Amino acid sequence: MTIDHLFQQTLEANLALPRHGLITFTWGNVSSIDRGSGLVVIKPSGMPYESLQACHMVVLDLDGKIISGTCRPSSDTATHLALYRCFPEIGSITHTHSRWATVWAQAGRELPVLGTTHADYFNGPVPLTRRLREEETSSDYEQKTGEAIVELFQQNKLNPMAVPAVLVASHGPFTWGRDAAEAVLHAVVLEECAMMAFHACQLNPQLPPIEDHLLDRHYRRKHGASAYYGQKP
Ligand SMILES: [Zn+2]
Repeated sequence: MTIDHLFQQTLEANLALPRHGLITFTWGNVSSIDRGSGLVVIKPSGMPYESLQACHMVVLDLDGKIISGTCRPSSDTATHLALYRCFPEIGSITHTHSRWATVWAQAGRELPVLGTTHADYFNGPVPLTRRLREEETSSDYEQKTGEAIVELFQQNKLNPMAVPAVLVASHGPFTWGRDAAEAVLHAVVLEECAMMAFHACQLNPQLPPIEDHLLDRHYRRKHGASAYYGQKP
């Protein structure tokens, strides 16, 4: 894929966020990485979506050095870079403050698997990071946010490709995928699952998660060697 193609994909993914109702004002961003060159394309900071164009996108290397672009990159850039460095299979990251996912993050609760919609995309609960310590918010805050996500996945032996989403405590969701379209898809699905789970818990406060066999069945219908959902590529 050329860097121009990556620009276009990342721009379109950013523009898809408000279309899917995941964005208020400028809250959110999508980035993508070209693994061959190690270059990351990301939305500029604070840019209204309605005026966003490919020429505004910023290109950085994995150390955060700006390679091209005249705009300042998203303020969350260091979180994205930390995830790219530690999750080598991901190709794109989406961050939003979408309402229902953020409700769970603010409530300090991971998102349990309560139905097959969730199981179709996430092979387990969407985990919640620990709260950051004061020294982590006062210095390199965005990088420390990324490190807290990586720590959560490593300590719990979670595969970021099997659970391509996280809730950052008191903050909101990050999702990712092999490309920008998939990262946005996971943001949309997460939001829908968070809304449904909130209401399911309201109707039945004692609701247990779905059984492992049902989670497994639904996840494997769509993922892995035995997947049979949809059409053959
Ligand atoms: Zn945020």
